[in-house]
Amino acid sequence: MSDPPRPTPAAAVRARSPGRVNLIGDHTDYNEGLALPMAVDLGTTVTFLADEGTRVVLRSSAEPEPADVELRVPLDPRLIQTLEPSWARYVAAVVAAVRPGSGGTGTVESTLPIGAGLSSSAALEVATALALGCEPDPLSLARTCQHAEHAATGVPTGIMDQLVVSAARQGSALLIDFADLAMRHVEMPRDVDVVVVHSGESRSLEHRSYAQRRAECEAAAHRMGPLGRLDPEVAQAIPDALLRRRARHVATECARVRAFTAALGGGDMHGAGRLMTESHRSLAQDFEVSTPGLDALVDALVGRAGVFGARLTGAGFGGCVVALTEPGALDLRAFRTPAWRVRAAGGAHIVTDP
Ligand code: ADP
Ligand code: MG
Repeated sequence: MSDPPRPTPAAAVRARSPGRVNLIGDHTDYNEGLALPMAVDLGTTVTFLADEGTRVVLRSSAEPEPADVELRVPLDPRLIQTLEPSWARYVAAVVAAVRPGSGGTGTVESTLPIGAGLSSSAALEVATALALGCEPDPLSLARTCQHAEHAATGVPTGIMDQLVVSAARQGSALLIDFADLAMRHVEMPRDVDVVVVHSGESRSLEHRSYAQRRAECEAAAHRMGPLGRLDPEVAQAIPDALLRRRARHVATECARVRAFTAALGGGDMHGAGRLMTESHRSLAQDFEVSTPGLDALVDALVGRAGVFGARLTGAGFGGCVVALTEPGALDLRAFRTPAWRVRAAGGAHIVTDP
């Protein structure tokens, strides 16, 4: 007589998500505007093994304490934002948004710098959501994880980060129109480098100021309609000086995203670089999200041979600068702060190889 069949042990699921760098188009996502971010070849991998328990326990190589959350944790931002260690808030928010059928244990490994503006948070959310069985369609994955980020942080961020890390295609940046979430893959020229340099400043003021900028944009949009759709000339006519500057940044930034995409397509790297540097000036002067450190780094970079242009990336208030350069123009070891040469990577996925 043969033995009765034994239940097969559940196999671990491994999911990987890239981080991202935004080439151009900052503070446009929550204004129905345009942006051209690019997923990068640095990312986060979550390996999850389901069990019969009622908790999801993840250990991260970047954190001393595990994230240990109840499977039935409610999607209640006030409760989630009290959880410790603080990275468990992201895990709890994803668990609450995805509602996996069973608990389990797993690991988080990342090659991304954390808190630098390369979206380690979206990479963590999206890789965790996929590993827990979330619908892999990029748009629903991104919406679920944006919702999770709001619950975890209380910051009303747009959908750009989650969407690009979910939907990107290797070798291309992703043009996103936030009015209808239409997306177009834009091939990156092979003969340029994208270099990210940390300013050495952490993004401590970001949360409050981000919400303030968002409120200012809403106030301007209340009178003028969505700022991402506004003609820059019309933005110029807003009587309130502060709202005029905020609206002018968003309207001109969307025009720059269009022009930058065309310049990339036409191989005009000098033109593309100039638009990045103009974007930085607009973020600094009109949107007021730069810092003296970011400005100095941009000035130093654009003064170097072989650098087409540079700008702050990832909302501002510290963090990183992105530069477009001739291949090999910058020696990354010469920076006193961390720097990375990044390539356009594909979107988040379940890893099938062992
Ligand atoms: P960014 O997304 O630009 O890296 P954020 O401040 O939005 O910066 O997100 C960083 C936070 O995300 C960290 O403080 C941590 O809570 C969480 N996080 C991101 N990656 C990891 C990781 N690999 N392990 C644990 N926590 C992580
Ligand atoms: Mg983030």
